Amino acid sequence: MTGTFSQQAHVRVAIIGGGPSGLRAAAELAGLVDGEVLVIERESAAGGIPRHCAHTGFGIRDLGRSMSGPAYARRLTERAVRAGARVMTSSMVTGWAGERALEVTSPAGRMIVQADVVILATGARERPQPARLIPGARSAGVLTSGELQGLVHLDGRRFGGRAVVVGSELVSWSAVLTLREAGCRTVAMATQAEQREAYGLVGALGRLALRVPVLTSTRVTRVLGQQAVTGVEVEAIDSGERRIIDCEIVVFSADWIPDSELARAAGLRMDAMSKAPVVDTALRTSRPGVFAIGNLLHPVDTADIAALDGAAVVSHVMAFLGGSSMSSDSIDLIAQEPFRWIAPARLRMDARTPPRGRLLAWSDERRYLPTIVATQAGRVIGSVRSPWPCVPGRVFRIPVRVLSGADPAGGPITIGLR
Ligand SMILES: Cc1cc2nc3c(=O)[nH]c(=O)nc-3n(C[C@H](O)[C@H](O)[C@H](O)COP(=O)(O)OP(=O)(O)OC[C@H]3O[C@@H](n4cnc5c(N)ncnc54)[C@H](O)[C@@H]3O)c2cc1C
Repeated sequence: MTGTFSQQAHVRVAIIGGGPSGLRAAAELAGLVDGEVLVIERESAAGGIPRHCAHTGFGIRDLGRSMSGPAYARRLTERAVRAGARVMTSSMVTGWAGERALEVTSPAGRMIVQADVVILATGARERPQPARLIPGARSAGVLTSGELQGLVHLDGRRFGGRAVVVGSELVSWSAVLTLREAGCRTVAMATQAEQREAYGLVGALGRLALRVPVLTSTRVTRVLGQQAVTGVEVEAIDSGERRIIDCEIVVFSADWIPDSELARAAGLRMDAMSKAPVVDTALRTSRPGVFAIGNLLHPVDTADIAALDGAAVVSHVMAFLGGSSMSSDSIDLIAQEPFRWIAPARLRMDARTPPRGRLLAWSDERRYLPTIVATQAGRVIGSVRSPWPCVPGRVFRIPVRVLSGADPAGGPITIGLR
């Protein structure tokens, strides 16, 4: 621990991150826990990413209705506060002062929050231009879609001109809508994927209604311009042919990375592929009393799925606070191609069911009617046929019954496709 801390506090549960996952966990835990449930949020208001997204499409699975992002963020915040949780905004957790003690910096100064349970709910962010190794001058016209949402929806910025959006996932289409709201025309979307990544219907509606050409098998090789963006250079992956698209704004969308600095700083076991902390099916990290939920674990799924993680963690937190002993009986789940990662990545034998009874996976290949196969010690222990395709660019959900034949003593389980 370094520096001086003006205050110390003890809470029963500290939740880092006031997005959908953290707020939902807070709303449920506040009514159950004997003691304070504290949400620590670095932004000036709670709500997480939805607070920045004016479009509708939030809350379908958790609240049973489709709401705008800001309305959804407000609803989740109100629920948490009404249930008795304290939401501390403009406050950032900057490090650890012990197993479950947090260093927090806020306008009131620096403090230590000691908690009996810590829940990491810090979400995920998009890789910016430098992290994608795309050369070109950095200028105000180069944004991630998260930054774009903040500028347009929170700061009310308006700008005309033309934009190129890198990516064709759902969030990329969301960026196109935001650009339109800001008065800017999207002249192209560019994706390295061979086919568009967004759900078919969304992609089709987007192309028809917004009339944006989607360039597949295309990569952006350079951002042009010095003080201001003047265009991007794109390359057709198959032919190597390059051309310039004139624009004043470039939006780098998707290509997610978990906000996992605190998890790494704690020395938690990490997943090398997803860069997220490893949790078991009860959302426990490798440190007792430290749990993780939301897009920090599965970059990036929808907000309702993140919120339902927040609901699912509650019984496991209560069991820990109630002193129930943790079984060490668990098995590693290993992603096999085309899957890049699986979350949760450990099957806990005394709590086998992950949130919503689904394992989440990221696929690097597109497969229709896939059959998911689980193998342990060279033996197939389960298989499930899915009506849903697995597609690069969106989370694929696997019913946990694929693990029903797991042998507690059988060693790691590999999950792949037939
Ligand atoms: C442009 C865009 C459009 C989207 N559209 C939809 C949609 O239409 N429907 C849908 O369901 N989903 C949508 N999503 C996805 C949805 O926003 C996420 O799934 C959801 O917000 C994840 O919730 P979370 O709680 O895991 O993380 P987040 O919402 O990212 O919240 C994490 C919070 O943690 C805080 N935090 C991080 N580190 C610290 C720290 N050290 N100290 C304090 N606070 C910290 C952050 O400030 C943030 O508020 C969209 C996402 C984007 C980017």
